[in-house]
Amino acid sequence: MRPRGLRITRNVKPVHSRECRAIFAALSEFVDGTLPARNCRELRQHLSGCKPCLQYLDSLRKTIDLCRVYQTTPAPPLSGAVRKAFARVLTGKVGGRRS
Ligand SMILES: [Zn+2]
Repeated sequence: MRPRGLRITRNVKPVHSRECRAIFAALSEFVDGTLPARNCRELRQHLSGCKPCLQYLDSLRKTIDLCRVYQTTPAPPLSGAVRKAFARVLTGKVGGRRS
């Protein structure tokens, strides 16, 4: 008699339950800090007992860190003097007035 291969997979607990999927969806908001506090608590509670979700959160955070590293830093607001200097460059009046 051939052993039924399906039996093995059936005995394995599904890695991601339906709840996990909801958690996965909420995790990006959680990392962004836009998740409502109440959902946050549920999420943490789930994470404390769910390794796959915890690993997912970990990889998500690492990904975000990488994004932050490679993101070009936004230019700081220009001071008045710098803005005037830029204006001079743009209007071709570089180097001040010539006599
Ligand atoms: Zn989970």
